[in-house]
This record gives sequence, structure tokens and C-alpha cells, in this order.
Amino acid sequence: MWNGRDRTEVTCIACGEAVPRSSAREYDKHGDRWTREDKEFEHLCKSCHQELCHQPRGDLEALLADIDTAGSRERFLERYVELVEAEGDRRSQE
Ligand SMILES: [Zn+2]
Repeated sequence: MWNGRDRTEVTCIACGEAVPRSSAREYDKHGDRWTREDKEFEHLCKSCHQELCHQPRGDLEALLADIDTAGSRERFLERYVELVEAEGDRRSQE
């Protein structure tokens, strides 16, 4: 259960795990991690962050299809799509 009283925990936006902020990775859906003012970052746990960052673009369709077939993680899929789209925006601006 949520208990943020004595240490800061954040919720991984991909898998929903509560992880200590110190071991989470910040994720900015706008792809701009350097403008920090008046912003709240979302967070990913380490394993989800690694999946997102190292997943080759060419496998995304298959990956999403797998997740969809599993059927039990609609929330994950929803968030994952948002992340992928944000990543695409970021790359197109580089
Ligand atoms: Zn996670």
C-alpha cells in the first residue's frame, strides 16, 4: 500500500510498482528533462527504464502485440504507448 510518510516513494508509470525515488528514473513525457521548473516528473523503475531505452524501435510492434495478447495489463499498455509516442517526438526534434 501507499505509504509516503517516512520516505519518498514514486510509482513506476509502466508497471505500477512503488519504488524509492532514489532508485527510480525520472521520465518526462515531454522529452525535456532539463527544464525542471514547475514540473512534476513521472518515474520509471530501473527495469522498466531499461526496457524502454534499449528496446529497438523495430520490435515495438511485436512487443506491443505481446502485451496486448497478455490482456492483463491495459494500464501498462496505455502508458507504454504514451511513452513510445513521447520518445518519437523527442527523436524527431533532434
Ligand atoms: Zn516499472
